[in-house]
Amino acid sequence: MIKIDNLYKQFGKLEVLKGITTSIKEGEVVAIIGPSGSGKSTFLRCMNLLEKPTAGHILINDLDITDKKTNIMKVRQNVGMVFQHFYLFPHKSVLENLTYAPMKVKGQSKQEAEKIGLELLAKVGLSEKANEYPGRLSGGQKQRVAIARALAMQPEVMLFDEPTSALDPEMVKEVLDVMKSLAHTGMTMAIVTHEMGFAREVADRVLFLDGGVLVEDAPPNEFFTNPNSNRAKDFLQKML
Ligand code: ADP
Ligand code: MG
Repeated sequence: MIKIDNLYKQFGKLEVLKGITTSIKEGEVVAIIGPSGSGKSTFLRCMNLLEKPTAGHILINDLDITDKKTNIMKVRQNVGMVFQHFYLFPHKSVLENLTYAPMKVKGQSKQEAEKIGLELLAKVGLSEKANEYPGRLSGGQKQRVAIARALAMQPEVMLFDEPTSALDPEMVKEVLDVMKSLAHTGMTMAIVTHEMGFAREVADRVLFLDGGVLVEDAPPNEFFTNPNSNRAKDFLQKML
């Protein structure tokens, strides 16, 4: 579903991604792991054109999103993203957060958008918060709303950038559980995470980035028990 071919990204003179090549199949869950500053967020952000690649190609369902002629808004509609810091609309209710883009961008009627929004809130366990405002939710609840909001656009791919890193420890599980059930629906997902247990359990593959290079691309069992590179070994020693 996603093909990444020799992807480079530079910020000025700083080379952040140095020729990444990999692919993600439909329904696959990929965990992206690596030290701070290794380019994980940049890599993810290139996949929905929040960052413009310097060179290389990214194909999503055979559409080259790095092609100048590609409609960026269309790409972003199809590739949902969840951030560490939620970014909910503070002056909209939970349900309005979910219905806003589908109505505005997809032209859904209010009735249709609310029906889908309420179904999604039920899926993330927040039906009773539909009319609440984000400021009155816990971090874990906010992140579940953010996931539901991304899903409301009915994307084919979901990207997560450290979705639990800003949460108090007791709220991590409720968010990981929602992501796990989403994975079980067959959603194609790329997840930057420091939750090694989750990566091991839920991911089909682990991508280990270090210094903008894809150092390992392996199934979790292989990666966690017998990493090929010393860089991954060192990293895991610090993490586990
Ligand atoms: P990670 O998510 O793995 O911590 P990032 O992708 O956020 O890494 O960052 C990789 C490198 O790129 C870092 O050195 C960071 O400072 C730099 N970087 C990220 N975004 C920008 C930007 N918009 N402008 C300049 N440098 C950036
Ligand atoms: Mg990051």
